[in-house]
Amino acid sequence: MAKIVPQPGIMDIALYEGGKSKVDGVSNIVKLSSNENPFGPSEAAQEAVRRAVHEMHRYPSTDHTPLRTAIAEVHGLNADNIICGVGSDEIIHFLCQAYAGPGDEVVHTEHGFAMYKISAKAAGATPVEVKETERVTDVDAILAGCTKKTKLVFIANPNNPTGTMIGMAEIERLAEGIPPQAILVLDGAYAEYVEGYDGGAKLVEARDNVVMTRTFSKLYGLGGVRVGWGYAPKDIIDVLNRIRGPFNLSNVALAAAEAAVKDAAYVEKCRAENTRMRTWLAEALMEHGVPSDTSTANFILARFADQEEAEACDLFLQKNGIIVRRVAGYNLPAALRITVGDEASCRRVAHTVGLFKAGER
Ligand code: PMP
Repeated sequence: MAKIVPQPGIMDIALYEGGKSKVDGVSNIVKLSSNENPFGPSEAAQEAVRRAVHEMHRYPSTDHTPLRTAIAEVHGLNADNIICGVGSDEIIHFLCQAYAGPGDEVVHTEHGFAMYKISAKAAGATPVEVKETERVTDVDAILAGCTKKTKLVFIANPNNPTGTMIGMAEIERLAEGIPPQAILVLDGAYAEYVEGYDGGAKLVEARDNVVMTRTFSKLYGLGGVRVGWGYAPKDIIDVLNRIRGPFNLSNVALAAAEAAVKDAAYVEKCRAENTRMRTWLAEALMEHGVPSDTSTANFILARFADQEEAEACDLFLQKNGIIVRRVAGYNLPAALRITVGDEASCRRVAHTVGLFKAGER
């Protein structure tokens, strides 16, 4: 029988590896591997889900008007320029499907998020990786990496897994410098952690070649219900809506996200607590001889002498019930990404790294 084959390039896609959530034979686990909010979703979001459960027999809204309106009000945006997706992953996917195909190039940075490559390849396009400078997005390198074939340029700001970010002037220079046929995608999955940063929303409004993506998975603590959104010029929103499934978000997900975005007090509390513990954790790790770059997100990229030491530390942490993220797949073999947890988790991970550095194995 003839072998049924997928589209060219599909089998070159490396499977996405999520953060681990358990270690065999170890209990009392603390999971610091997926940049989740240690405080979970707000009470308001949970209550909204309890109410939405009674609507499970109904199809959800196809145009997400209540959620888009709520996002627009909270962030001071135009609801007509918003599209909602199954996580921001889905918005990334729509962008690649709609704008990049065979023969086209999708530029992403050396330590950029894995989905850019996956979605580009799934669309039949060619991902093009450009260097960063000391784990910081390098605008000149990106501009040098663009060609006549470039259709999309992805940067995450703050970046995952480095935690670093670049300023608005650099982003504007990038938007101005990319080729005319290309769209700059500003992935703001961690934008909420940066006080006063709009994720590039104003730039989206000022230009016709910039798209911003955001998520409810991080600060809002809703990774499990899968809601993200994009902010883009109207004609791009129109294009993306044509390939969006009409019922891509469930009633439960829509209700949770709408309540979460309106709960300003909870957002503020989680942001402040993250900043406090991130500073504490970075300093504690440094005292144990483990440096990191200044992070602007809800994780720290802890750097070790080499891959061997990073992996040995990871194994020691696992043995002690702490799961962090290896990032060798992001060209960072000598580092471990540690999510900023609650105070007890931060103390536990810092203490255990300290024991490791003191020679325990
Ligand atoms: N962008 C970045 C930079 C991320 O780190 C993540 C989550 N790991 C996402 C996008 C996707 O998040 P989600 O699909 O949950 O919105």
